[in-house]
Amino acid sequence: MIAGGKVVADTYAYEIKGSVYINLTNECTNKCGFCLRSRMDGVAGYNLWLEKEPTAEEVIAQMKKYSDYSEVVFCGFGEPMLRMDTLLEVARYAKSTGKRVRINTNGQASLYHGRNVAKELQGLVDCVSISLNALDAARYDALCHSIFGKKAHKAVLEFASECKKYVPEVVLSVVDILPESEIKKCEELAEKMGAKFRIRHYVGQ
Ligand code: SF4
Repeated sequence: MIAGGKVVADTYAYEIKGSVYINLTNECTNKCGFCLRSRMDGVAGYNLWLEKEPTAEEVIAQMKKYSDYSEVVFCGFGEPMLRMDTLLEVARYAKSTGKRVRINTNGQASLYHGRNVAKELQGLVDCVSISLNALDAARYDALCHSIFGKKAHKAVLEFASECKKYVPEVVLSVVDILPESEIKKCEELAEKMGAKFRIRHYVGQ
């Protein structure tokens, strides 16, 4: 099907290497220079452009196509925490079936929603992986172009430290396009916050 000039699909849940990924939205508060969405239609052969954002029931119906998986990952082709109500409902279902739950996020959800959403993850989410992306506000803004401008980076750090209170595992990540010295400093920052650190590989053309 074609919508807005793009071929779209209704892929709300898709499997990669024993994890089921959840695709809730194509919207995001960032426009990262390295974002896959500017160059690709999806990942691992799945088209992740959506004709419409799914309800929790629609996501859960697609999750039921898969049986042999241990982890549910909110990731998709956009920022999943923009859709908190749906995310929490699906996470509740995933936990009720004994799955580990992880969110990959840009960390701006509390700023976006105007409340501390980290609290709402307690008991439902095992891991939050937050894209730190840069060491300071100016570098973050230059790379990620958030709708919140230079306020975004501080909000990401605040969200990460709130997540430390409510979620067992917090990971901060950067993409390997940064200079080595900046990657090192980001790693030190993650350590200081008591978070894990991960370097994501840039997927080029
Ligand atoms: S935060 Fe993620 S989805 Fe949003 S623009 Fe950046 S890479 Fe893309």
